[in-house]
Amino acid sequence: MLTVDCRDVLAIQHELVIYVSDQVAAIPTLKNSQFTLSTLDDDDIIDTNTVITAIKEFLDSIDEGRNFAVIGNNNMISITSVSGKVIEREPLQPQEMFSCSHCGFVTQYQVELETHMRIHYL
Ligand SMILES: [Zn+2]
Repeated sequence: MLTVDCRDVLAIQHELVIYVSDQVAAIPTLKNSQFTLSTLDDDDIIDTNTVITAIKEFLDSIDEGRNFAVIGNNNMISITSVSGKVIEREPLQPQEMFSCSHCGFVTQYQVELETHMRIHYL
């Protein structure tokens, strides 16, 4: 499992979670200013460099790439503002995101959340 620290980019955390988890086919979980990425199979290892590349791609796509350093250290990736300036923009509208009230799992698709929620009622 990988943890990504988003404290400097909280405004884009939800979009970033969706983008990165899509790129690396991992299961995202939101935890305050961080999110974690895990795989269905615990033996599968998520490649840190692939995640870092995906984060950088996303930052570039919103023209913030040069303002942030993405640093991996073991199973922790931090996104740190180079200038001390954090991203300030309107977060996605809540209705565009669905998150699990039990564990913080997050998805763009209601049907995916419904499927996910079933694991809590087994
Ligand atoms: Zn859940």
